[in-house]
Amino acid sequence: MPMNIYILQTAQKILTGGQLDRKEISELIKESAAHPHDLLYWANQIRLHNFGNKVKLCSIVPGRLGGCSQDCAFCAQSSRYKTHIADAGYTGDDDIIAAAEKACKNKVPNFGIVYSGKTISEQELQRLEKLAAVIRSKLPVKLCCGLGIISKQQAHRLKAAGFARYNHNLETSRRFFPQIVSTHSYSERVETIKAAVQAGLGVCAGGIFGLGESDEDRIDMALELRQLGADTVPMNFLHPIPGTPLGDRKPPEPAEILRIIAMYRFILPKAHLKIAGGRVLNLRDMQSWIFYAGATSLMVGDYLTTAGRKIEDDMQMLKDLNLEPILTNEQSSESNRAVK
Ligand code: SF4
Repeated sequence: MPMNIYILQTAQKILTGGQLDRKEISELIKESAAHPHDLLYWANQIRLHNFGNKVKLCSIVPGRLGGCSQDCAFCAQSSRYKTHIADAGYTGDDDIIAAAEKACKNKVPNFGIVYSGKTISEQELQRLEKLAAVIRSKLPVKLCCGLGIISKQQAHRLKAAGFARYNHNLETSRRFFPQIVSTHSYSERVETIKAAVQAGLGVCAGGIFGLGESDEDRIDMALELRQLGADTVPMNFLHPIPGTPLGDRKPPEPAEILRIIAMYRFILPKAHLKIAGGRVLNLRDMQSWIFYAGATSLMVGDYLTTAGRKIEDDMQMLKDLNLEPILTNEQSSESNRAVK
């Protein structure tokens, strides 16, 4: 089958520094339905053009796990659902420091501390300020955190404490969000991301796919992330958790996941697309295809509520693909506002 001209021309526009508008994205998706391999081929070309063979690796540790008052329909950590980790538990300082040491040893330079819950208390913020000082004095990691909804003042304190970036996902589109979460608003999430940007933190913001959202919802979220200036976009794919409202929902198939990644590469050509939760379960034998679809970043090790795969397996996969992890000193040149 000959190459689809519209996909080719759209890719050329991006490769020469252009940006797609909403109408062009919708047309691209329509055209790619009969030409899925063209979409992947050009997504890979855009990845190579902007990132070469470099990939960004991240790992996370929960500072607080479970016991969350919120009702996000996919989440094992909500105390509203009967799941394997609905009750709150804290990870001690020593264990968090040990996890950061392990990340360094594994050459994973981005290390995130993540809290369940709508937000954090003053006491928890003080703990994190002290912990950041200890970790930064010992280890060459880039520290990240995800602590829920935070104010501008809290964002400034995290920046002053030495955190490099803030993770806060939009999860889905503004239109679809109320069907997934009722206990806080989409605007609160957007304001948190703006607070992080204003404080000078890098922004790691993405969402979760396979909740029942449409392609239009996916485009909406990507455009919102582009507008907000997220430089790293975590892409999670539903891992149905028994006991949650989405526990019986069928997750997306590998081909659909690759199509979504490729679509995001076209919309966010310079953002790191980080494939995170649901990767192992949903992609099965097709893990390595994510790079051909345009991904440039991986969450390695265990996820918050589900096990990942062995880091050695991921490192071997990167080596076999001739991909090289970005090291800490290379990241200093990363643009925080890469995707505007
Ligand atoms: S996604 Fe975050 S805010 Fe929502 S239930 Fe889970 S831990 Fe709570």
